[in-house]
Amino acid sequence: MAERAASMTLRTDFSLLIDGKLEHSDQELEVINPAFGTVFARCPAASRSHLDRAVKAARAALPAWRAKSFAERAALVRKSSEVLREKQNELAELLTREQGKPLSQSVAEIDRGTAQSDGLVGIEIPNEVLVDDKQNHIELRYRPLGVIGIITPWNAPISLALGPLVSALYTGNTVVLKPSPYTPLTTLKVAELLKGVFPPGVMNVLAGGDQLGAWMTEHPDVDKISFTGSVATGKKVLASAAATMKRVTLELGGNDPAIIMDDVDPKAIAKKVFFASFVNSGQVCMAIKRIYAHESIYDELCAALVEEARKAKIGNGLEPDTTLGPLQNKMQYDKVVNLINDTKKTGAKFLTGGDVPKGPGYFLPPTLVTDIDETSRLVQEEQFGPIVPIMKFSDVEDAIRRANDTRYGLSGSVWTKDTEHGAEIASRLEVGTAWVNQHRATSAFVPFGGAKESGLGRAYSSLGLKSYMEPEVVSVAKQ
Ligand code: NAD
Repeated sequence: MAERAASMTLRTDFSLLIDGKLEHSDQELEVINPAFGTVFARCPAASRSHLDRAVKAARAALPAWRAKSFAERAALVRKSSEVLREKQNELAELLTREQGKPLSQSVAEIDRGTAQSDGLVGIEIPNEVLVDDKQNHIELRYRPLGVIGIITPWNAPISLALGPLVSALYTGNTVVLKPSPYTPLTTLKVAELLKGVFPPGVMNVLAGGDQLGAWMTEHPDVDKISFTGSVATGKKVLASAAATMKRVTLELGGNDPAIIMDDVDPKAIAKKVFFASFVNSGQVCMAIKRIYAHESIYDELCAALVEEARKAKIGNGLEPDTTLGPLQNKMQYDKVVNLINDTKKTGAKFLTGGDVPKGPGYFLPPTLVTDIDETSRLVQEEQFGPIVPIMKFSDVEDAIRRANDTRYGLSGSVWTKDTEHGAEIASRLEVGTAWVNQHRATSAFVPFGGAKESGLGRAYSSLGLKSYMEPEVVSVAKQ
């Protein structure tokens, strides 16, 4: 009850960050706590003129920022990680209120984001000498692109902001960052905290609706868009960026398969497979979204996953024993409820879930479905919610074919005791990342991104960092 009362006190202590100054706006966004379905905060929503001023400030800050060395910029990024870690508990609590995930997962998200930031600034991007002989000295150099627009989704607003933010800043660019209108608050607090770390104009943060994102993608003075979100919006971003030939990195949706071979002990892997499917109530781009299990272990795996589902504790993320929070917003909740109802109509069997609990809040239980027609929406579409189909195979060639039979290609996994065979199967998945005996393992040093319609380009690693830079050949004829 105390928690409910706290959620009724409207918070309004949020600002935009433009040119090192906190600003308000005539327009506001209302932010809902998904555990109750009620507005608990309001924050300013940026107008087109806020965007123009933020881009102008980012452009003005560029010469001094790019003139700094990598080491100087890395030191400021490390300082920013320290500042965020000092305020981790406060930020995590706000993140749970606006996003819904259990508090321990909000803490973990900030840990992950800051660890990735510190990892990224340890990667060197040296100039490369391509030729050095009597006649010529030819080097490949990398220079910052300029002003980067970063657009983020609502499922992991902090870690998905810090990755592109730090990649852009470390490589000498300046930034205008826009969080999702569903989860703008923690990002605005991060901006407020980092205001004193980076020089004015280097990092600008604007909350706003989808229209603000569209304005960013068409803005003539933005050099690159780093977009994380749905495939449908990613295509709009790509089309809009074409007009000014902006560089883009698109981190989009997935429909990740997990192929589970006949030599595994289903009880031993069930916890990991369940977590990779249902963490953040399935609202993870690289969550397991389709399970293909060998017929010889199929029943046992289903039973072990049902057992895990029974252990899940659904509730407000601020309650200490909660393991699954609500869906983040009404739109996504309605979409998943619709998918549940559609799947029921196909005659599929629900091992768990299937009934929609009465509100308040956007809660749905972990739902496991078998005996499903593979052409049904639950198999074909990205569900982005706590419902997963488990399908049977007898021949691994057939499993690989079915796993690849999709326009998505974010990631996938193979589960087997024969790791060599597992790696061979994994290499045949048409994805950006294929894991063996794990799913969802990422690091600052490893490129991440989608094949097919799951994205364009890679984040993290030197590959990701270089996507924030223009390669330039300097070719000198010796005299
Ligand atoms: P979304 O595409 O609806 O919105 C993402 C962001 O784009 C928001 O900030 C939104 O305001 C903005 N936006 C909306 N219309 C725009 C336009 N026309 N131009 C520019 N920006 C616009 O996505 P979502 O519902 O917030 O996020 C869920 C999706 O994100 C899922 O598909 C998920 O798989 C994907 N995702 C991918 C990754 C990855 O790394 N590949 C990570 C997390 C989430």
